[in-house]
Amino acid sequence: MAAGRTAGRAEPARTVTNWARNITYTAGEFHRPETLGALRALVAGSARVRVLGSGHSFNRIAEPGAEGVLVSIAGLPPVIEVDGTARTVRVSGGVRYAELARTVHRHGLALANMASLPHISVAGSVATGTHGSGVGNGPLAAAVREVELVTADGSTVSVARGDARFDGAVTSLGALGVVTALTLDLEPAYEVEQHVFTELPLDGLDHEAVAASAYSVSLFTDWREPGFRQVWLKRRTDRAPVDFPWAAPAAEALHPVPGMPAVNCTQQFGVPGPWHERLPHFRAEFTPSSGAELQSEYLLPRSAAVDALYAVDGVRSAVSGVLQTCEVRTVAADPQWLGPAYGRDSVALHFTWIADTAAVLPVVRRLEEALDAFDPRPHWGKVFTMPSAVVRRRYARLADFRALAASLDPTGKFANTFVRELLGD
Ligand SMILES: Cc1cc2nc3c(=O)[nH]c(=O)nc-3n(C[C@H](O)[C@H](O)[C@H](O)COP(=O)(O)OP(=O)(O)OC[C@H]3O[C@@H](n4cnc5c(N)ncnc54)[C@H](O)[C@@H]3O)c2cc1C
Repeated sequence: MAAGRTAGRAEPARTVTNWARNITYTAGEFHRPETLGALRALVAGSARVRVLGSGHSFNRIAEPGAEGVLVSIAGLPPVIEVDGTARTVRVSGGVRYAELARTVHRHGLALANMASLPHISVAGSVATGTHGSGVGNGPLAAAVREVELVTADGSTVSVARGDARFDGAVTSLGALGVVTALTLDLEPAYEVEQHVFTELPLDGLDHEAVAASAYSVSLFTDWREPGFRQVWLKRRTDRAPVDFPWAAPAAEALHPVPGMPAVNCTQQFGVPGPWHERLPHFRAEFTPSSGAELQSEYLLPRSAAVDALYAVDGVRSAVSGVLQTCEVRTVAADPQWLGPAYGRDSVALHFTWIADTAAVLPVVRRLEEALDAFDPRPHWGKVFTMPSAVVRRRYARLADFRALAASLDPTGKFANTFVRELLGD
């Protein structure tokens, strides 16, 4: 063990289980450094390293391998530095969105968007292309203006917007180094009203109009019947409201997963509230979603949304047998080379499955076949079965990413099995 590597909490081989408890692996060593110096020495002195965020991914993306070192940066001093003049915030990679959002809001500022839950770490979220919804909203990575990394030789490197490497450096699957801090764009704080509607038919769906009818729009269905059981509109109160003539307002507060309590969800019925208490569906103090589940998600061109929804409808009986809920969102085109919305305005088809891998995987395969014609790109943090060779073909800038990874990490220290399979040769 190299000098300095034990400055912080170090443990020998450790078994790690993700939030969903569907993935368990053994890391050769687990470290939780408490200073940047200790982290740098640890990285420089280790042959294989992966970082664990808040563990909300559903696949082996964070696994370091039995010989590898798993690092949590949750022990580093947390930083949330708001610059009110520049309207930016510099935040440690391990901070979760709930804490970040509360701090930013206290300064009268806001993020442009959030995911369905605020429980996830900032670095882990942008590394996988995590997103919310909205035809004008890119993924969470769109807010990033600079990333600070500890790279393979232990040096610190900053990559800012305008740097030729930047579009590879944010949604990087943890393959470039340890992201210790990020600087994000902010805007003046705003309020959002959340309105829920029920029973939107698929036949005759004008997806473009529905998706553009509020700042953020989500459609939910269990696919037991055609069409959508719920529509969630998040309207900014500083923008003119758009009518929603296609479905009726809900009579009671709802949870997107049938049978789950609405108290876990953010306020509905159009009560205006701070952006960070409406943009996520789930409240920070409660278990998000159902808590016992697997998830998959595919991003494909928004122009194909209706055809793709009919393709899912075609396998509705298989899908509904293992489904808790399906959510349809939109994501604006993303410049990040490995962003699932790279270069195309996208519709995101999300599936919250039952927590039974053996029953779910054959359905995931069937769904992927049904969607294949639409060039779907899987969410990096969720369950998919698509061969890496197929995924690779869907990323035009993969060679640029490979070259960037090779320049910062020549020995592939940060490339685990998941990343090596993806990058190929
Ligand atoms: C209930 C639930 C709801 C969800 N809702 C959404 C949603 O609305 N939209 C959406 O797009 N996704 C959603 N997800 C998926 C989730 O956002 C992603 O899996 C995200 O990556 C989780 O962040 P994390 O910090 O837990 O990352 P982890 O799972 O811990 O790690 C993910 C990847 O990031 C890397 N990483 C983490 N931290 C660092 C770091 N500091 N430096 C370098 N690499 C790092 C890891 O090595 C790994 O490769 C949801 C997940 C759950 C469980």
